[in-house]
This record gives sequence, C-alpha cells and structure tokens, in this order.
Amino acid sequence: MTRPRLAVHGHFYQPDRRDPFSGEIPPDETAAPARDWTERVTDDCYAPNALRGNFRRIGWNLGPALATWLRERRPDLHAAIVAQDDGTNAIAQAWHHSILPLASLRDRRTEIRWGIRDFELRFGRRPAGLWLPETAVDLPTLRICAEEGIRYTILAPWQAGIDGDLDTRRPYRVEVGGGHSVVVVFYDRDLSTAVSFDPAATQNADEFVRARVLHRLADPLPGGQAPLGLIATDGELYGHHQQFRELFLARLTSWYGSGACDPHLEVSPLGHVLSQAELPALPVMTIRERTSWSCHHGVLRWIVQCPDAVDGRWKQPLRMALDRLSGAVDMLTDALVAPLGVDPWEARDGYVDVASGYARPDAYVARVLAEAEAPSSNDDAPVGRAARGVEPARRAARRGRPRSARGSANLLAGILAAQSSRLAMFASDAWFWDDPSRPETLQALRFAAHAARTMDALAGSRLEEALVADLAGVRSSATGRDGAALYRLALTQVGQRPPA
Ligand SMILES: [Zn+2]
Repeated sequence: MTRPRLAVHGHFYQPDRRDPFSGEIPPDETAAPARDWTERVTDDCYAPNALRGNFRRIGWNLGPALATWLRERRPDLHAAIVAQDDGTNAIAQAWHHSILPLASLRDRRTEIRWGIRDFELRFGRRPAGLWLPETAVDLPTLRICAEEGIRYTILAPWQAGIDGDLDTRRPYRVEVGGGHSVVVVFYDRDLSTAVSFDPAATQNADEFVRARVLHRLADPLPGGQAPLGLIATDGELYGHHQQFRELFLARLTSWYGSGACDPHLEVSPLGHVLSQAELPALPVMTIRERTSWSCHHGVLRWIVQCPDAVDGRWKQPLRMALDRLSGAVDMLTDALVAPLGVDPWEARDGYVDVASGYARPDAYVARVLAEAEAPSSNDDAPVGRAARGVEPARRAARRGRPRSARGSANLLAGILAAQSSRLAMFASDAWFWDDPSRPETLQALRFAAHAARTMDALAGSRLEEALVADLAGVRSSATGRDGAALYRLALTQVGQRPPA
C-alpha cells in the first residue's frame, strides 16, 4: 500500500477594489502602512508565500481581478507565482467571484469562460480544475463547468448529497447530465477548520501532522487505496489573517518535491493526485443544490436574511435592484448591438482579454467589428460563426440605420465596459457582511453606477434613476442610511458627482 496523501488548497482572492470610473484603487488609510488593502495583503501573504516557494507545493487558485492587478503592479511577483505552477498546482476561478447558483445561466457561462480564458492567458495551458466562488454550487453550474472542459472542483463536506458521514478521504464523481460528470473532492472539515480558525493548531507543522493528520488518514480505503486528506482554506490566512503561517505552510508541505520523505505521508497538490486517478473508478456522489462553504443555510447569505448576519434585511432589496438593472442593461445591449452584426454575448465572452489586461479595449472592439464585417466564407472564426445567426437582422439594420465606423466602435466599447461592470457588481463580497454601509457593498454600488451611467450615456435611457429608486428599499441599520444615500456616498468617495 502507498502512503496516505495530504493536499493543501489555497483560495487566493481579493475583491476588485478598483474604482470602475478611473481604473485605480483609491488609497485607504485603514490599510497602513500599505497604500490600500490589496497592497497590504500582497505584502503580508502573496509575496512571502512566493518567496518560500509555497505555490509550488500546494494547489491554488488566484482570483483573476487580483492576478490582473498583480501583473500590472507587481509584475515580478506575478511572474514568480505563475512560474511556481508546474502544471498541476493552479486551477481557474470564475472571474468576478459571484455566487453562480444565483446568476442567470448566461452569466454563469460567461463567468466560467472568463475564468478559463484568464487562466489560459496567464498560465499558457487549459485548467483542469475550477474554484467555484464560496464553493457555491448547483447542478446547472457543474454542468456548465463540464461542458467548458473543467474536470474537477472542491466542495465542503456538507455539500455532498448524503445523510450521515461522508468519507472525504477519496475523490468522487458527480454526474451532471448529458453524459457529463465532474470530479468533486470534499475537503477534510476538521483539518480545514483547524487551519482556518485555530491559530494554536498551526504554530508547529510537525506537531500538526502528528496530532491531527496521521490518525485521520491511517486506515486504508476499501480496496486498499491510499486515503487522501484535503485542507482547503482562504489563501490569505497564510501570513495575512494569521501572521507567519506561510512558515507553517512551507514546513507542512516541505516534503513535496524535496527529495526528502516523511515515511508516513505523501504531500502533493490536489491536481497532481487527480492527474493519476482513474475517473471511471471513482464512486458516484450527488450534491446538495444551492449550497456553499461559508453559509450553512445554502446560499441564503447572499440573497436574504439568514442567521449569519445580525440584520440581513437589506440583502434582498439590494439583489433585486441590481437584478433589475442587469435586465435593463441586457435589453439595451441586445437592441444596440444587433444592428452592428455582432453577437453581443459572444463579444462579452471574449471581452475577458480586455478585463484581464491582455488586450486593449479599442483593439478588441476593432477585431470584433472586423470579424462581423467579414464575408460569411470567414465563418471559421468564433465571432464570425456567431454573427451568422444575426445576419438577417444585420442586413435589415444596415439598410435603416447607417452608423460610422467610429460610432460603432465607441458604442460597442461602451456597452462591453458596461457589461463588465454589471458582471462585477455581483461579486459575492457585497452581500457577505452584516451591513450595506461596508466598503464591499459600496464598491458594488460603484460598479452598478458605472454600468447604469455608461448605458444612459449611450442609449439616452434612465437606468440610474430607476436604480436609485429601487435602492431606497435597502436600509443600513448600522448607519440609518438608505440605499440611495449609500449610493451617493459610494460615488462621492471616488469624486463622482452624485445623482440629482
Ligand atoms: Zn447563512
């Protein structure tokens, strides 16, 4: 029998703190001595973990917005982290960290495609795994993952669809319909909880292995296979939430690839373990629909009142206001883009190249418009293929409404920027905490404002007016402010004029 295996996965993620109007992160005094919290966490966590080589020995996902910031602002660190992926360490993450089971199917596919494409641009290979934000899952989400070529994901043990104890020491296969399946590894609850929330447990890595790990993995699986223990946590706890824990992580995983060996345990990234697994041999498991790792009430934390917040009554009106804005932005997108002969949703899926910083907006828009203009013999190109479906509408529209090339480019660039902000406003952070006066919710309101104002400027619509009216239903019990007042605050904080 081979030795039991231990794998560690770090979810490295920061909310996108950039002001959507300027593209810059505003300075934040509370992050001193750093300029802002993204820099602070980088100094506390990403840099020291990269220095220790930890990204080589664990599995991880790096949130695309954070990775984009790192590549722009800390290119050497970004390169060092990417270089530590040996082909099995890194997995993708849905781009904006929205709760996918709460998103429309089209948005879910876009988020997953953006995550995969971001990964390809960054790592130069296809991702085998994908991190679902907050591990929020349902079957349609897993099915889209499978259709987009994702092989595996990580879930909390209570997300398995069984009563009683789940043996988390082996991977499972979840059938998602259409002949597809996704490998799911449920992390070890006790080990992951201890690493996340019990600083005393992680003061000494050798003691951690002796006292907590070995006995959990002592018994072989039926059939004699080596058991697997997966520790999955936020990556930021290694050095930011808990000081010096990058040293714990380095010691815990030091046997991997070092030549030296702990006689009791084999430590390797999850992707390395799964690259050896025979998929058909995995036992079949079901999942609990609409569940997550940080709300024990399914995904209620991000929609309505659940016991995770003292007063969560603001959450539903906020989501409804943003859902309604989203619907209006999408209707205008369809109406304005169809006459250009472009499929707006294919164009949105491709816009990740801009969002991730690998293409300039004007160059991307020019390419999409050129492909739409090309004769149908050029249909091998993805956008050309998409445009074929809207050919009659395009011809009809051209006859009625001629538009200059520059006008078309400006229109499409504006709409795609608005769509990008409208996706960003659903990042889970806005609903995570107790009160909507927190910076995370104000940031979502800035993205909403950017989407609404951009569309209003292009279409002469009044989306912002409707948004502000809807936000009146949001109330912050901590400050006594309503959502419209928070919206004005969110804008004035970044030097934007508030609505009349
Ligand atoms: Zn909850």
